[in-house]
Amino acid sequence: MPIHFNDLDVVSEVAGLSSALIVPCNMCPAVTVAVREKKPFIQFFRSFLKSVPFDLYLKALQSRLSENGVKTKVFKSIPYHQWFMCMWTSRKRKKLQKCAEQYDAVIVLGCESATETVRDVVKSDDCKVVEGMKVSGIMNAELGFHLPANVSFKNCKTVPISQQKNKEDVSG
Ligand code: SF4
Repeated sequence: MPIHFNDLDVVSEVAGLSSALIVPCNMCPAVTVAVREKKPFIQFFRSFLKSVPFDLYLKALQSRLSENGVKTKVFKSIPYHQWFMCMWTSRKRKKLQKCAEQYDAVIVLGCESATETVRDVVKSDDCKVVEGMKVSGIMNAELGFHLPANVSFKNCKTVPISQQKNKEDVSG
């Protein structure tokens, strides 16, 4: 099952910068937001290959950043095989590299592996890589298909990752 996340405060991380490219992984973060909002992850007839809750989340993030003087663009990954940032093709990575050159920061919405995908191509000190989400565990849920063609998750639990658990045990 997908990784589950909590949001991080990206607005303060990019304060003082004028532009940021938002690079979302469209799988685990999108499932996280759909589960949090208690909405279907995908409604094929309404929005084919787009998760509406995650799309609204991205728009809200863009407007918060805009209010704070940061212009943004979302780096899109529409086809299904591009949803998983941990498995992007070299072509997609090169595309990100070219696009990121025009921004002061890249905001990654995904896990450490998604951030690694970005760090592999964004090497310039002029472009700050900012993590927009923090892993809170792995999701355990029941996948449901509902008419007309909705994909949802129910009875969701977040299971801590064993490393996290060990750290908590040590610090506790
Ligand atoms: S990059 Fe991370 S967040 Fe995205 S699909 Fe892979 S494991 Fe999930």
